[in-house]
Parts: sequence; structure tokens; C-alpha cells
Amino acid sequence: MARLLIVEDDELLRDGLEELLTRAGHTTRTASDGEAALAQLQAQVFDGMVLDLGLPHVDGMTVLRLLRARQSAMPVLILTARDGVEDRVEGLNAGADDYLTKPFSMDELLARLQSMLRRASLPAFGATASPAPALQPPADTQATPTLSMDAQLPRAWLGSTALDLTPREWALLDLLLNQQGQVVSREAVLAAWQAQPGEPGAAGALSSNALEVYVHRLRRKLAGSAYGIRNIRGLGYLLDGPGA
Ligand code: CA
Repeated sequence: MARLLIVEDDELLRDGLEELLTRAGHTTRTASDGEAALAQLQAQVFDGMVLDLGLPHVDGMTVLRLLRARQSAMPVLILTARDGVEDRVEGLNAGADDYLTKPFSMDELLARLQSMLRRASLPAFGATASPAPALQPPADTQATPTLSMDAQLPRAWLGSTALDLTPREWALLDLLLNQQGQVVSREAVLAAWQAQPGEPGAAGALSSNALEVYVHRLRRKLAGSAYGIRNIRGLGYLLDGPGA
């Protein structure tokens, strides 16, 4: 059970979300525009937020940016228009944890939201509380741990900490690190993925949307390190960090 803020200007959808999430056992508050959302966020603490990006007065992206500027790590699920690919990328870059494209099924929203809240309650993400002082990072992560990869294993490390990567995340990071400081095109990543053993070879089976999601996940795994993945609009992605 979580305290959730629902920000949506479409009354029907807002009511539907409120009913769904209340029935799932959560405590909900609603806001119909960005200004009201900011007032709610100011007034009380929430465990998560469903945020429509297209809002009157103050738009959802601004709400998200202001929230993250306050160092809040509250999980945020954004709702975007069907053709809003750029919105999704911008939203993820601005710190959204997940997105759903309208129209979506209420079941899917609930599933995504629950998993987002679950992840946020894991200590590694430290979303709902300030970092626990009891969790001592390995000594070398306090300096600037370097990213290293072993293609034979395949495994990756930040300093001496192993990164838990899926095969696709590994392939993506491998490309970015090998061409650090240079733009890696979306096509190059999709091609690398398709070359992986066990991947369905059908071209076009992997979408750019999937790539956004993997980039976002990888960013989360590199969070707190000196490495960052930059989205170069229209071109691809670039890895910033030590040794660039
Ligand atoms: Ca809207």
C-alpha cells in the first residue's frame, strides 16, 4: 500500500485511475493540472506518481524536472501520447522511471506501477528514504571507479563492483564503452543485439522504443558513478565518463 499522486487532466481517465489504484489498496490524491500537482507535492509526501505529460498551465515535464531538482527520487510513471517518442525519451532523461503510451490497459498500468514501487523500495535505489548510512560502499567506489568489461565471461565491473547486466544491456554498454566519447547510432545497437546468440533474427523485431528502455535501465545501473549516457537527438547515444 502506497501513497500515490495521480496527475491527469482528462477527468474520465483521472477518475478511472483513482478507482483502480484505490481498489488496489493504495491511498490516492489527484491533480488536474501541473500547478495543482506541484501544490500537492509541496504539501505532502508521496511514494509514487502517475504523471500525464500533456497538462494545462504547467506541463508534466516541468513538474517532473522540478521534482527531480529537489533531489526527490520518488518513482514516477509518465503517460504520453501514442506518437510522442521524443516526449518519452525526454521524460526518461528528465528522470521518469517508466512510461505508458495512451491508450493503455488499466491492468498494465497497475502491473508497471507495482513493479516500479517494488524496485523503489529496494535499498539499492534508495527512492523512499535517504541513503542508509549502514550500507557502506566498497572502498574504491568512493574514488572514481572505472568501468571495465570482459568479453569472454561476459561481465562488467564498476571498480570492483560487478554490474548485473542482461545480455542486451551488456552489448549496449560494450558498444558505448568501445566508442566512448563518440556517438553510437541506434542502428549499431540494434545490429549488435540481433547478432547475439539466441536473439530472434528478424530485422525490425527490435524497436527503438526497446532501445530507449534499455538505455534508461543502463543509466540507472550507472547512477552514482562518473559515467553517464547522453542521448544525442536524432543520432544515437554517447557515453561520458573517465577516460573519454
Ligand atoms: Ca493530457
